[in-house]
Amino acid sequence: MSVKNWYYHKDAKASRHGLMECCTCGEGIDKGSYRHYEDFKKDAFVTQHKHCSLGQGAWHNIDKEDAITRELRALFVKDVDTFSKAWGYDSEAILELLKDVD
Ligand SMILES: [Zn+2]
Repeated sequence: MSVKNWYYHKDAKASRHGLMECCTCGEGIDKGSYRHYEDFKKDAFVTQHKHCSLGQGAWHNIDKEDAITRELRALFVKDVDTFSKAWGYDSEAILELLKDVD
């Protein structure tokens, strides 16, 4: 019986797994999005560039969610700007305070 490999999708800026070499093109993964799974038989992480795995797995849904997040962030920034102008606050300062708030 085969074991299903579950991919995890990450950004190389914040996360590293194994040798960080793409299993498709063989190049290093130094930046940008990539996916990985753990090959338990080989006791190794298998990594793959996003651009080498486009059209596979969850990239479409992740890109869609990222687009929604960017859209909501733009609406939020617009609301903060409107609030700041109405109440005389510096919108950049408010956004700086809120940058790490989820
Ligand atoms: Zn690659």
